[in-house]
Order: sequence, then structure tokens, then C-alpha cells
Amino acid sequence: MGNQTTIRGIEKAMDPATPSAYIRNDGSLDTDTFAEDIASIVSGYPDCDPDALLGWAARRLAEQASGDEAAPLAVGLYATRTYPYWYVRHAAVVRQMIDAVRAASEVFAAADCPHHEGDGHPGLDSTRAYTEELADLIPLLGDEHRWDEEIEDMEVLNAGPRDGWLCPGFLAGLAREILDDLRRAITRITRAPDTGHLDALYLHRDGRADIVRLTRDLGDGRWRDPKDPTGTAAVWAARRFIAGARPEERLPLLLLVCAVTRRCAWEQVAPAAVHVYREALATVDPAPLAAPCAHGEGHPTAWVPDRKRMALVRALHAPDAHAGELGDAAEIDQDAVRCPKYAAEQAREALDYSRRYLRLDEEEE
Ligand SMILES: [Zn+2]
Ligand SMILES: [Zn+2]
Repeated sequence: MGNQTTIRGIEKAMDPATPSAYIRNDGSLDTDTFAEDIASIVSGYPDCDPDALLGWAARRLAEQASGDEAAPLAVGLYATRTYPYWYVRHAAVVRQMIDAVRAASEVFAAADCPHHEGDGHPGLDSTRAYTEELADLIPLLGDEHRWDEEIEDMEVLNAGPRDGWLCPGFLAGLAREILDDLRRAITRITRAPDTGHLDALYLHRDGRADIVRLTRDLGDGRWRDPKDPTGTAAVWAARRFIAGARPEERLPLLLLVCAVTRRCAWEQVAPAAVHVYREALATVDPAPLAAPCAHGEGHPTAWVPDRKRMALVRALHAPDAHAGELGDAAEIDQDAVRCPKYAAEQAREALDYSRRYLRLDEEEE
């Protein structure tokens, strides 16, 4: 009982994205708290639930688009505009943000901008992030007195007059850039890459899959630069596994898909690609998991470090040419690796890992 109370207390403290955390007693936006959490997101170490905060900020922006809060909210969303592309997993979160920011941008567009061709708007270079500086600026946007006191310390941003930041014409431009990034995010979450053009690369003339080339292109492990951050080559492999793989290709392709799935967080692979990996993994028969097999000592998962997984795939596929690449793992029992229970264990582990990456246990709103 005491324990539960503590846990609930921590959850509450960890969840400042509940709207009340950003609202003062008089119902207005608490720009300091909002700016702090925006700063924590852009620093890469969020102290809040970014999905909840950004979704809330977008809705609030739509509601307050013609009011004083529009500038601090729009600048907060602009500062974090690339976050959804890399880190938001649920399409519903991004779709709701798009609807809200679009509604706000219509209000901005309909309002008067007294600045001829944007002369008097802050000159933000859209190729630069300015993220920390923008987070620091948020509280000043909502408070003329603080702006006058503190703006001189913001020289990096070349902030210009406060009126320019508050102008709906300027905010319309921010909203357009936020929307561009949100649309890129929704594509990355929902649209798996086309892979038809890769047949020419990964199929031999006789129609066999070129497993060795695939493993080389995917790279040997997480200590090297990611070779396939869009997941495209691995999606080709997953689709081949789902349909069209020859019997002798199935285990190498499965282990290859398991290996790339275990790297998806490290490489921040596009969620849509990871969904295709999961489709392939879900076709593996789980029945052997419940039955005993001949390998009472277990299967050699633990003996294959991540950086050797592609070498294992090559060694399985063509032992004569590639067994030597396994190095210390050369003793691997080929029978145990070919056991259906091993395949089922690997698929289950990769499904569990990718479920956490895609945050599938959290409900979509
Ligand atoms: Zn203007
Ligand atoms: Zn076995």
C-alpha cells in the first residue's frame, strides 16, 4: 500500500505534461515551466513525456492562436520541431499535432502583419537549430518587462524587436516549418520504404538472394556507423522472408532481420521499417517454444555478440567461405542454431525488443 502510494507519487512528479503543470492559477500559460521542459527535450534528456507535452502545446496553440500565448507556444513547438521525426512512435500523436498547428496557422494567416515582406520579423535561418536559445527566449516572449531586462543576454539569437516575434505573420512562418517537419515525421512513422528497386541489387541472376551482400551492406554491428538508417535494405530482407524466400534462405534472412531489429534503437530506424521487420518476425512459428528440444544446454544466443551476428548469418549461409569470420564464436553448434526452437526464441526476443522501441504497449490516444 505504502509502496503503491510512492510509485503513484513518482509517476505524478515525472509527468509534468499534465496540462495543470503548465498553467498558472489564473489560467494563463506558465512560460517558465513550459520553457524548462522544452529545453529538456531539445537537450536530448527530456524530464517530461515529450509526446504529451508537444501534443498539449499544439492543442493549446490552436485554442490560443489569436492571444498572448501564441508566440511562446509556437516558439516552443518550433524549437522541438525535429523531435517527432526522430522519437515519436505513434501516428495519432503526430496527426493531432498536424491538425492543431494547421488550425493555428490559418488564424495567423488571416491576421494582419504590418511588416512589409517580413521586414521587422526575426531573421531565423531555418538551417540552424537555435534550440537552446529559443527555449530560453520563451519566458521573455510572454513578459515585456523581462524582455527589456534580459534580452541583451540573448545576443546569439540576434533577437530583434519583441513585436516581430509576436507578429502573426512571423508565427505563420514558424507554423509552416513546424508542419513540414511533422509531415516528414508522419511519413517516417507510417510509410515503409519501397524496395522493388533492390531486387536488382540483392538477387543473383538465378533468383537466389545475395545474403552475403545484404549482410555487408547492413554492416556488422552497432560499433560501426549505421549502414541502413532508413531500414530499406533490411525491409527488402524482411519482405523476402515474408514471401518468396527459398528454404535455404529462411534462417539466414530471419537471423539477419533479428540482428537489425536489435539495432533499431541505436540507429533510430524509421518506425515504418521496424513494423515490416515485426511482420516478418510474427510469421515465425512460436510452437517450438513450448516444447523440449535436443539442446538442453540452451541455444547459443549468448555466445554471439551483436557485432558477430551478421558473420553468423554468412557462416550459416555459406560455411565453407565464411565460417572463419566468426572468430571466437567459431565453436557454435550448427545443429543448435538450426533448431526451430532457436528460431522461435530469436524471433520472440526481437519482437519484444521492437515492441519497446515502438512503444506499442502504450495506448494510442
Ligand atoms: Zn509581421
Ligand atoms: Zn533446440
